[in-house]
Amino acid sequence: MKRSKKSNKTICELRGQLLGWYDSHARDIPWRVRKGQVPDPYHVWLSEIMCQQTTVQAVKPYYEKFLSRWPSVQTLAAAPQEDVMAAWAGLGYYARARNLHKCAQIVANERGGVFPSTQNELKKLPGIGDYTGAAIAAIAFNQPATVVDGNVERVMARFFAVQEPLPAVKPKLKALAARFYEDFTDRPGDLAQGFMDLGAGICIPKTPRCNLCPLQADCQGHVQGIAAKLPHKTKTKARPQKYGYIYWITNDQEQVLFHRRPEKGLLGGMLGLPTTDWREDKNTLNHPEYIETPKPLNIHVHHTFTHFDLELSLYESAQVANTALKGRELGWRSPSEAGEKLPSVFKKAYKLLIS
Ligand code: SF4
Repeated sequence: MKRSKKSNKTICELRGQLLGWYDSHARDIPWRVRKGQVPDPYHVWLSEIMCQQTTVQAVKPYYEKFLSRWPSVQTLAAAPQEDVMAAWAGLGYYARARNLHKCAQIVANERGGVFPSTQNELKKLPGIGDYTGAAIAAIAFNQPATVVDGNVERVMARFFAVQEPLPAVKPKLKALAARFYEDFTDRPGDLAQGFMDLGAGICIPKTPRCNLCPLQADCQGHVQGIAAKLPHKTKTKARPQKYGYIYWITNDQEQVLFHRRPEKGLLGGMLGLPTTDWREDKNTLNHPEYIETPKPLNIHVHHTFTHFDLELSLYESAQVANTALKGRELGWRSPSEAGEKLPSVFKKAYKLLIS
């Protein structure tokens, strides 16, 4: 029986402690099933895609909206892509929505509505990487898989008092986690969710709540008094600041000009307001030639993306010839109907303009 490197307990005993804690403290989340119930792979897949780089709290209303609108993978596959993108608006990382729709179409049309059950097969589908494939295999199909997200990395770094910094130490943390997951066929889905819940509610980033933790007695980070400082991180460069112009262009029918963004790239395929490129040097920004006499509104919208901060300056104009719109993915829409479909950065501007 394997023993944890610095603990007197076997991995099997530690896993038992975690599962015992999970049985009485599991978070109540809409996509979780009660003990004894069989999870629906469609629900698990949908929730795991939505939870990529997004909190459970932010995901809940979107998950419920998607399920009530598209209760099966077949109904989601049959939906127009524009509707799926619009329903995703505000959740961020929009490539996920495009891949979600593509994946639904493959599962519905090529696999008879049945998701594959192993991590390797799942990873062949759009939008499913190493972590998501492992999570779906474990949670939906009870397959042994090493499920390691940021929460589990933090628990491993602290439990084994690993001093090397992220991100280089990730493979080592995964190998440590694998000792808990490997060959565990009994309750792999519960084990994965137990670690996720421990990381999300107890072994939290700044101030771990060690007095509530089922692993406390054997946790080297806690015993050595260094848990809160772990995991160490390599310092990252400051996020660059970018600038752009954004336009509120109206016609005499009280419609507003909206832009469908290109499929590839940031906010790909989403509806937005017309905008310039976003650049670090604001002096190089130019108004698009189809917009005549743009008038500055002295309103600025600030938004943070993962890799840069953005400041958009708002302009208005009523001078756009319909002939200038051809081939540009631009179109007039009622502002109230389109406003709901905008991703967060454009919704901020929209709210300022209609208030
Ligand atoms: S004892 Fe504290 S640091 Fe260790 S795993 Fe539990 S919450 Fe995290």
